[in-house]
Amino acid sequence: MLEALKKEVYDANMQLPKLDLVTFTWGNVSGIDREKGLFVIKPSGVDYDQLTPADMVVVNLKGEVVEGKLNPSSDTPTHTVLYNAFPDIGGIVHTHSPWAVSFASAEMDIPNLNTTAADTFYGDIPVSEALTKAQIETAYEDETGNAIVKTFADRGIDHNAVPAVLVAQHGPFAWGATPAKAVYNAKVMEVVAEIDYHALTLSHRDSHVPQYLLDKHYYRKHGKNAYYGQNNPKSNAHK
Ligand code: 13P
Repeated sequence: MLEALKKEVYDANMQLPKLDLVTFTWGNVSGIDREKGLFVIKPSGVDYDQLTPADMVVVNLKGEVVEGKLNPSSDTPTHTVLYNAFPDIGGIVHTHSPWAVSFASAEMDIPNLNTTAADTFYGDIPVSEALTKAQIETAYEDETGNAIVKTFADRGIDHNAVPAVLVAQHGPFAWGATPAKAVYNAKVMEVVAEIDYHALTLSHRDSHVPQYLLDKHYYRKHGKNAYYGQNNPKSNAHK
């Protein structure tokens, strides 16, 4: 069942150690088949060098395992909440990458200070509110997803324009149209968090990019007037 998606999700998971985004088994990627209403996710706590595509677990949008010999990721309920709340995303990733976790620990947004950030994120990457004792003791992983969704709703942030978040005192989640794109966004977030840490150490002034630089860089790569690279609508305009 869903063999092609299992391979795609496996490949995206294997990118995490390659891109230096995980230590030990601290991360997971999933990808969804929207027509079937099923997603595929990494099993919990299995070493990356032991994983195979056949180990991937198939889950429905109620968070129930539909196929798989192994327990799904402990973060499966969070992925379930996000797939239900954000019906246009195709892949989700969670890691404990240290620069992003640094901002999550400090409960600070990752501010948009430069074109590296503006190329991918149309604004700051928000940090959610810390979960309460009751939330942690009842349905911890569902509440983690609910906290993410609430952050985007309360702050009026478009989850497609800023496809990443920090869960307070925990770490980053990112998403995208595909599992590979979610991993890409997670890596950009990590690079931006490292750069921001140094920028904020060097200077405490508010050095957010101005709106016109944010617009220039974000829309070079996104939307109908994008011209970056080879395959965007306007990138072949000279031909
Ligand atoms: P899993 O191995 O269960 O996916 O857990 C990884 C993790 O990072 C938990 O937060």
